[in-house]
Amino acid sequence: MNIHEHQAKEILKEFGAPVSNGIVIYNSEEINKKITKLKSKEFVLKAQIHAGGRGKAGGVKLIKNIENLKKEAEQMLGKVLFTHQTGPEGKKVKRLYIEEASDISKEFYLSCLIDRASSKIAFISSVEGGMDIEKVASKTPEKILTNKIDLKIDGPNETEIQRIISVFNLNTDQKKTASKLIKALYEILIKKDASLIEINPLIITKTHKLICLDAKMNFDDNAIFRRPEILKLRDLNEEEPAEIEASKHDLAYIKLNGSIGCMVNGAGLAMATMDIIKLYGKEPANFLDVGGGATKEKVAAAFKLILSDENVKGILINIFGGIMRCDVLAQGVVDAAKEINLSVPLVVRLAGTNFKEGKKILDESNLKILSASDLNDAAKKIVEAIK
Ligand code: ADP
Ligand code: MG
Repeated sequence: MNIHEHQAKEILKEFGAPVSNGIVIYNSEEINKKITKLKSKEFVLKAQIHAGGRGKAGGVKLIKNIENLKKEAEQMLGKVLFTHQTGPEGKKVKRLYIEEASDISKEFYLSCLIDRASSKIAFISSVEGGMDIEKVASKTPEKILTNKIDLKIDGPNETEIQRIISVFNLNTDQKKTASKLIKALYEILIKKDASLIEINPLIITKTHKLICLDAKMNFDDNAIFRRPEILKLRDLNEEEPAEIEASKHDLAYIKLNGSIGCMVNGAGLAMATMDIIKLYGKEPANFLDVGGGATKEKVAAAFKLILSDENVKGILINIFGGIMRCDVLAQGVVDAAKEINLSVPLVVRLAGTNFKEGKKILDESNLKILSASDLNDAAKKIVEAIK
C-alpha cells in the first residue's frame, strides 16, 4: 500500500526525523485559516498524488508571495498530472500540501528498503539526489551506494550508519542529525511494516540544516491487518478501481496494458502464462491469480473483473487443478458469462483435478469456447483468435 507525501512526513516527524512544517488542503478556502501554522515567507505547493516525478510535471511550485497561493492552489486542484509514474491516463490532483520553502544548497538521495534477495535491509544513498535519480542509476551507477545490513532488533550500528552517510560529506552536527534519521528510517520499516522509504531529495539548506524534502513510503499489504493506523491512511482515489474490487474478493489482480485477459491459478503459472502470451507477440491485460481453493463465486468475480477492462480483446483461462477443482472453475466461468454478455473469444486450458467434469460443464454451457490441449496451444489459439 502507498500513502501520500504529507502522510509519510507525519510518520517521519513522529519518529523524530527532520521535516519542514506543512499543511494539507482539499480546497483553496482552507488556506487562510491554516497558513498561520507556517513560519516562512515563501511556500511550496505540492500536488498529493501517489506518483513521483511531480516536479517535472508541474506538480511542485514555488510560491514567492502569499497572495498568489490561493490562485495557484485553485489551478493545481483538479488538474490531471502526467508523470513517468502515473501511466498514460495521468492522476487527478485532489489534495495539496503547502510546505515552508527551503533554501536548497545540496540535494541527496536516501532510501531504506527490504532486499528480499539477500534477506537484509538495504540503505541506498547518493549525492546525486533530486529529480533525476533514475538517470543517475542507469548512467552512473557508481554514484549510488548500497549498504545491506542484517535484520536486528536494535537497528544499524554506528559503523554501519557512518558507512551509509559517508557519501554525503557532512559536518559534525549534520552527521548527528543524519545518524538519527537512519535510525528513524529503520524503526519505521520495522514498527510500521514499511517495505520502502525513500527520501528524495534529502537536502542541506544554505543555513546547513539537513531536511527530508520529499518522502515516499510503501507498506507490506500482508502486514496491514496489524497496522490499523496505516490502513487508515489508504486513499482509494489513488487506486485502480478494478484492483479495489479484486481486493474485496481476495483476488491477486494487477491491471496491465495489454489485450489478453488471463485467469490462472497460482502466481508461478500466471507468470508463465503472461510470458507465453508475449512469446506469441501479444501483451497480457492483467496478472490474475485466483488462488488455491477458489469458490465459483470468486471465479465469477474474477471473470467479471477481466471483462470490465475495455482493452481486453480475448481471454485465456489456464488452470492446473490441484486444490482448485476444474469443475468449480468451469461453473464460475459459466455463471459469470451468463450474467455478462461474453463478446470476446475465450480459450480454456484445463488440466488436473476434476478436469473431465470441468470440460463437461463448459461443453454443455453453449458458450463459444476454444479448448486447448496445453499452454503452448492455448497461447497460440488466443493470439490467433483476436487477430
Ligand atoms: P517529485 O519527486 O514528485 O518530483 P519532490 O517533492 O521531490 O517531488 O519535489 C521536486 C523538487 O522540488 C525537489 O527536488 C526540490 O528541488 C523542490 N522542492 C520540493 N519541496 C520543496 C520545498 N519545501 N522547498 C524548496 N524546494 C522544494
Ligand atoms: Mg522527489
